[in-house]
Amino acid sequence: VHEFLQNSEKLALVGQLAAGIAHEIRNPLTSLKGFIQLMQKDGMRKPEYFSIMSSELARIEMIVSELLVLAKPHASAFEVHDLTNLITHVVTLLETEAILQKVTIQVAFESPLPMVHCDENQLKQAFINFLKNGIEATSGSGEIVIRLWCEGDKVVIRFEDNGVGIPAEQLARLGEAFFTTKETGTGLGLMVSRRIIENHRGTLRLMSTPGIGTTVEVCLPVIS
Ligand code: ADP
Ligand code: MG
Repeated sequence: VHEFLQNSEKLALVGQLAAGIAHEIRNPLTSLKGFIQLMQKDGMRKPEYFSIMSSELARIEMIVSELLVLAKPHASAFEVHDLTNLITHVVTLLETEAILQKVTIQVAFESPLPMVHCDENQLKQAFINFLKNGIEATSGSGEIVIRLWCEGDKVVIRFEDNGVGIPAEQLARLGEAFFTTKETGTGLGLMVSRRIIENHRGTLRLMSTPGIGTTVEVCLPVIS
């Protein structure tokens, strides 16, 4: 009985997610269809049409690529890794974006850190999501500090930003699919990232004070 319930709960979740995805993708598709019809009817080829069409396509592409991470959790390749290299790589990937947004990123890690068992690409994806959210929240004169240390049998990774913060009523909704406060957000980053951290038997916690900043804390088990 228990297992049956679990499965039907899972199916309900899949259904909710599918409905959300369908909805999020249908909007830009409807708009694309409208523009194509307009161009067929009037033969108009305005540059604005093309730029709207290409941003609608980019939106679909972004939603699909975020969801792809969810589609492949079982094909994942778990290996022993040193998180300091992984974090350094993620910071390098986002460096230009941070400079453009006038955000500084500092990394402070305990050395040496114990190794963890992880799928490098998945974990990178989650860390990129946290860091991107931090950059987007602090845009202007932001500072992000990433701290890593070992605590008992866990490695703790913290992403601290001095951005806008998150009001309490929104904090409760984070990680819900498609919950976003951004005009062009997908609201998929935290949901996908939470799934990734759970796949690693880890935990994810967000702490935030509006006007002060946000801390995202990930704990991962170290190799025993
Ligand atoms: P998206 O970034 O596309 O909006 P996410 O799932 O990554 O989707 O984040 C969901 C929401 O959580 C964001 O729209 C934002 O309101 C809030 N959020 C996440 N991280 C932060 C942060 N570091 N600072 C402030 N708000 C955040
Ligand atoms: Mg995001």
